[in-house]
Amino acid sequence: MKPSVEIRKFSEPIEVYILHFIKPLRSFLAAIDSSSFHQECILIKGARKFSFEKIAKRLQERIHQTVMEINLNALIHNYKAYQSLLRKETKVMAMVKAFSYGSGSYEVANKLQFEGVDYLTVAYTDEGILLRKNGITLPIMVMNADENSFDQIIEWKLEPEIYNFRTLDRMLEACVVSDQMAYPIHIKLDTGMHRLGFDHTEMEALGAILVNHKEVRIASIFSHLAGSEQETLDIFTTYQADLFERMTQHIAQQLDYPLVRHLCNSSGIVRHPHLHYDMVRLGLGLYGIDSTGKMIPSLRNVSRLKTSIAQVKKVMANETVGYNRKGVLQRDTLIGTVCIGYADGVPRRLGNGKGFMLLHNTLVPIIGNVCMDMCMRDITDLPETKEGDTVEIFGEQYTVTKVAAAAETIPYEILTGISQRVKRIYFEE
Ligand SMILES: *Cc1c(COP(=O)(O)O)cnc(C)c1O
Repeated sequence: MKPSVEIRKFSEPIEVYILHFIKPLRSFLAAIDSSSFHQECILIKGARKFSFEKIAKRLQERIHQTVMEINLNALIHNYKAYQSLLRKETKVMAMVKAFSYGSGSYEVANKLQFEGVDYLTVAYTDEGILLRKNGITLPIMVMNADENSFDQIIEWKLEPEIYNFRTLDRMLEACVVSDQMAYPIHIKLDTGMHRLGFDHTEMEALGAILVNHKEVRIASIFSHLAGSEQETLDIFTTYQADLFERMTQHIAQQLDYPLVRHLCNSSGIVRHPHLHYDMVRLGLGLYGIDSTGKMIPSLRNVSRLKTSIAQVKKVMANETVGYNRKGVLQRDTLIGTVCIGYADGVPRRLGNGKGFMLLHNTLVPIIGNVCMDMCMRDITDLPETKEGDTVEIFGEQYTVTKVAAAAETIPYEILTGISQRVKRIYFEE
């Protein structure tokens, strides 16, 4: 194989630079300036004898030391674990909104597409366009499509969620302008979440518009449960489901084609099997996290956030560590400063002993306040620690769920809060 380095930008129309046969390698290594790359996916090709791993290493060393590893096999394992709970004909819509819950978008979507997921869902039009530009051909629902983006929605064959008469009117206009017939849209019903969606009082009028405007066609109709994971809210879930049933029947009576209906998110899939309808919307569970407690044994961990110790230092008792002198030392202490802070997505709330990280299989507390790009650990009990040693913020052992509990939040916020500057590395066996 001819050796080459390709730098592919996934964020823009793909630019490919091919640097043919770098020779000698040493002068190439001296010449590359890795700080000039940002959010690029770099593919390095070449036979073993060219030692191209030196290029990879050289590119990585300049980049931020903090990485999030994403195991795509585990993701697919989780997809199948949920799929096994469904009737054979029930479709799966995979939620890849918010940068696939922080796990990257194109890579995850591509894997899911390969595995035969039926639908993908993003939050914004831009996220959908990015997937299209990277070769995703699956139908993509866009949940919060700005009405000013409807022309782009059509151009990129994305399918908007329509949640009121204003967005429906705008979509109809956009369809007329670009001469579309039966363009797929998704109707969102409000059954009690009270976020977005048509009210039950609007079904007659909605049906009438849809009957008279063949420019659009309902690809699916859905609602969202406010507390599907919570037993104490099961009565409310039943109320939502009953209302959903009535509202969708009202619409169905007026149309001359069958409706595809969906109601369940991840925890709904597990806890309310009688509400699977024609499709389910699988989000958090894909990423290996289960808020019901019932799926835990059958899910695999997907993401691992890790960084390294930048400096080890001994600090005497009664000294303080970090901003505002909050970390008061009770004993002579070995401090390990790690390269991750709140700008990377480690909640500042985890400071001053509330949060932990895993070092040599031991949980070590955060001492003092979390800084923007760093935080300090008490590693006194691990005196063998060396600079450069790996520290895990979350992963298989110390899970996102535990980090979220320590930060008094939910795993969704931790995962989606991991900053874009943290490099994502994808694993596939
Ligand atoms: C995010 C989202 C989901 C997925 O929820 P999970 O709890 O992550 O499975 C499903 N439906 C809607 C409307 C959503 O916004």
